[in-house]
Amino acid sequence: MKAVKYYSYDDIRLENRYIPTITDDELLVKVHGCGLCGSDILKIVQQAPPPVILGHELTGTIVKRGQAVANFAVGQRVVVAHHVPCGHCHYCRHGNSSMCASFKASNIDPCGLAEYIRVPPEHVQQTTLPLPETLTDEEGSFVEPLACCVRAVRRTSLLPGDTVVILGLGSIGLLMLQAFKALGTGQSIPCGRSIRVYGIDLLPERLELARKLGADDAFLAPEDEQGLRPLLAPYT
Ligand SMILES: [Zn+2]
Ligand SMILES: [Zn+2]
Repeated sequence: MKAVKYYSYDDIRLENRYIPTITDDELLVKVHGCGLCGSDILKIVQQAPPPVILGHELTGTIVKRGQAVANFAVGQRVVVAHHVPCGHCHYCRHGNSSMCASFKASNIDPCGLAEYIRVPPEHVQQTTLPLPETLTDEEGSFVEPLACCVRAVRRTSLLPGDTVVILGLGSIGLLMLQAFKALGTGQSIPCGRSIRVYGIDLLPERLELARKLGADDAFLAPEDEQGLRPLLAPYT
């Protein structure tokens, strides 16, 4: 199979390697596609030393199932997240599972940018989710980044009447916008329908997309920071 391997920030290769073998508690997943996360790009830009595992926003189909895995079937489409928290360390108990040592140490094998991945036992149990028929493979690859956004939204202490401004309407900005809108009108945040969300970006087509996805309005970024206040004053 083909898989991406990171040797250094300026030496990233697409290599041939063996399809991973699995144990009784694991799954083998054929990857449909994998998103490129800002954190992947950051590792390259910041010239991170190897080992670096690229790609973690993936969907795939289970092609092999370990004998001891009861809750998944061959042929099932799944989303697999890459990190698994321990659930009982200081960070996990305080709701900061992304700081957990087990979370940081765990990963899929070899990486999301591969034709097949081995899903380790703890990932099978905790971070593998069936992909509903209503979602395409491409939409499924947004589950992991959307989960990050939902977590961020839940950590904000919004009050009724609050206004949110999202600077940058790339994929994460647009997911944040939808998460704010969805959770702001639901039970998770006690602020009823009064939460308003505005977006700012440099690209007109993104403003259009933001409005389509539920932004109360979206504006072209002003020349400098000073321009933000008069732009947003009527809405806050
Ligand atoms: Zn990511
Ligand atoms: Zn932990």
